[in-house]
Amino acid sequence: MIAKILINTSVNSLNKVYDYLVPKSLENDAEIGKRVQVSFGRGKNLEEGIIVKLEEDIENPKYKLKEITAILDDVSYINPNRLKLAKYIAYIYFCNVYDALKLMLPPGTKSKNSSKSLDTKKDSVVSLAKSSDEIMQDIETNVIKSAKQIQLLSFLMYNDYVLINDIIEGLSISRSVINTAQKNGYIKIDKVEKEVDFLKDLEVEKSYPLEPTDEQKVVIDGISKHIYDEEYKQCLIHGVTGSGKTEVYLQLIDRVLTQGRKAIVLVPEISLTYQTVERFVARFGNDVAILHSKMTISKRKEEYKRIKSGKVNIVIGARSAIFAPIDNVGLIIIDEEHDTSYYSQTKPKYSTKDIAAYICKEANAVLVLGSATPEISTYNKVINGTVELYEMKNRAANAKLPEIEIVDLKMDKVMGNTSNISIRLKEAILDNIKNKEQTMLFLNKRGYNSYLTCKQCGYVFNCPNCDVAMTYHKTNNLLLCHYCSHVEKNVHICPKCGSEEISSYNLGTEKLEEELRELYPQISILRMDADTTVARDSQQKILDEFKNGNADVLIGTQMISKGHDMPNVTLVGIIGTDALLAMNDFSSSERAFSNIYQVSGRAGRSTKPGKVLIQTSDTENYIIEAVKNNSYKDFFEKEIEYRKTFGYPPFIDILLFEISGANLQDVKLDAEKLYNILNYGNKNEYRVFSPKSPYIQKLNNRFRINVMVKARLNTKIYSDVYSKIKEYNTKKKKNTNLSITRNPIFI
Ligand code: ADP
Ligand code: ZN
Ligand code: ZN
Repeated sequence: MIAKILINTSVNSLNKVYDYLVPKSLENDAEIGKRVQVSFGRGKNLEEGIIVKLEEDIENPKYKLKEITAILDDVSYINPNRLKLAKYIAYIYFCNVYDALKLMLPPGTKSKNSSKSLDTKKDSVVSLAKSSDEIMQDIETNVIKSAKQIQLLSFLMYNDYVLINDIIEGLSISRSVINTAQKNGYIKIDKVEKEVDFLKDLEVEKSYPLEPTDEQKVVIDGISKHIYDEEYKQCLIHGVTGSGKTEVYLQLIDRVLTQGRKAIVLVPEISLTYQTVERFVARFGNDVAILHSKMTISKRKEEYKRIKSGKVNIVIGARSAIFAPIDNVGLIIIDEEHDTSYYSQTKPKYSTKDIAAYICKEANAVLVLGSATPEISTYNKVINGTVELYEMKNRAANAKLPEIEIVDLKMDKVMGNTSNISIRLKEAILDNIKNKEQTMLFLNKRGYNSYLTCKQCGYVFNCPNCDVAMTYHKTNNLLLCHYCSHVEKNVHICPKCGSEEISSYNLGTEKLEEELRELYPQISILRMDADTTVARDSQQKILDEFKNGNADVLIGTQMISKGHDMPNVTLVGIIGTDALLAMNDFSSSERAFSNIYQVSGRAGRSTKPGKVLIQTSDTENYIIEAVKNNSYKDFFEKEIEYRKTFGYPPFIDILLFEISGANLQDVKLDAEKLYNILNYGNKNEYRVFSPKSPYIQKLNNRFRINVMVKARLNTKIYSDVYSKIKEYNTKKKKNTNLSITRNPIFI
């Protein structure tokens, strides 16, 4: 038997399939999709590969084939359909087929796994301390030579947050390999609370379908028709916050199950909490598998096996659950479809919605997108007819939409209020406390960084590796770079002029909490942001505490804006709005709108009416106006006009090529090279912009230069660009790296 093997290699030109002989002893185990070990090229090391085809022996082979050394998997997660999907991904996102296939493999590598549990209270988890690009670079330039190191690091590129013991067992490597990687600064080891075991701790009472409201009924009936007809369709449920979208999802899943088909439900990583999972488990019990990156790898592997074996019909998870090994899908639901976590930021930088659409099309399944603030490009598909629209304009269960009030910060200046909390909001918080009701204060992350500057000479404490201001953490007096984790402690002298007059700038959640405590010492406050939620289940704990009424105020970043149902929250204060409005890439307005709108939606979710105070100096801004009038359509119309006028998606596609490397000169030369190759013979079919440094020019000691292409992509233009990239790959320098994003959301 001959096996065609796709080799796991980062070298683009080697992204080909090679023939190997399957020894008699392995013939029974050989199966398409299983990973194997083979010797490859002149290297002594064994390489990993995947069987993509099996064929009969040839009678008189021209040359002698090498034999497969070992078969690594006992279950195959990749069938011909998945191979096809991987090829599609590789093509539209310019990556290797193997990289695409890796997305579909279960977390963890070796198949035999005795998931022994530790008895200690804390687990040690391992994650990368450097970017994948940088590590790939070091591997390609032989800075990292040891095969074990490479194995460990490439594994971590695709699996974040892995238990040390899982690695040792799963990859069969010793603790010393991990220690070396840590010593060399490639990985970090954190102690975290023990994992969230969603299934074990869930003691949920069975729930039964609610009698749908009139609005829900229209949606359920409309979409069910497509499910019953087994026809490919994309549907958007545009429903205000609290309109009962989740109940609609549950009932649609019911329909698809009666058809004998299966469902995938995707939710943003951040809202994949007990509360969300509970609602699905309450309705469908053991029929649900959960995939969450904060579950241990052995747990996720178990879930993968359960899914593959066909024992579950519903998979719920974040972005990567779209690759769960589920066959016979009839329905894919993407909740909060506007969420940016549906765009992968690591190679391959895919858009989950594109992939979901492809899977549904292939399977004659229905794709349901749900949001109160759909992405502009999604809603535009409604306008041009590729997506069917369903609207839910009222909250279910008789709750009213909150009243929205704009607080003019210009007035506060006039009144001499220097606090970050406006006079109006201060009053409202106090009133709310008197009424024994709860308040959420939302601070956008952009306005949340706090920098240190010198009052004398204006020096800003930047990260020496990254060219960005480091964030100041007052509680432990340290400066931290959020990109590369560089730390400086106890800074109190300006390195430029020697002055000791150093002050922190801007507002952070921590500072806001401090201000509020000074203002109202008697109230209890909870804070939820990246700093308070390092441990795996801390997010849930904070939310539970707040929900149980153990605090008057919850301060938080974007994290608190996602679908949590808090019946006693009647006041939402939005702070730092101006920073949100001031962002400047093409998609920043839609993120600002959806952020402000979604946070507003946290107020008054139950019988008590809610109120939202939005603090801003820009009271006339169309985004604020649209939120106030609860009109997505007002916003959409202004925004789509702007995109059309200035040539942005969805009217034009953007391909952003980023070239990076430690040597600036080489990066510049390669960027120039790419620019010229792309421009060669281009008859104005697309526009190539000359190489440009991004906002952050140096990250992790690596320089970056972008080359942007704007085009109305069709098959011909795309394949043109594709072959040019292939050409560039053969001509580029070894020590630079190319990463590609299609229609990037952050430029
Ligand atoms: P969304 O997902 O649109 O934000 P939810 O599904 O969370 O909204 O629903 C908001 C609230 O309304 C929940 O408490 C839910 O139980 C309730 N609800 C939804 N549908 C119904 C219904 N048909 N009858 C009664 N209550 C409902
Ligand atoms: Zn840095
Ligand atoms: Zn100074």
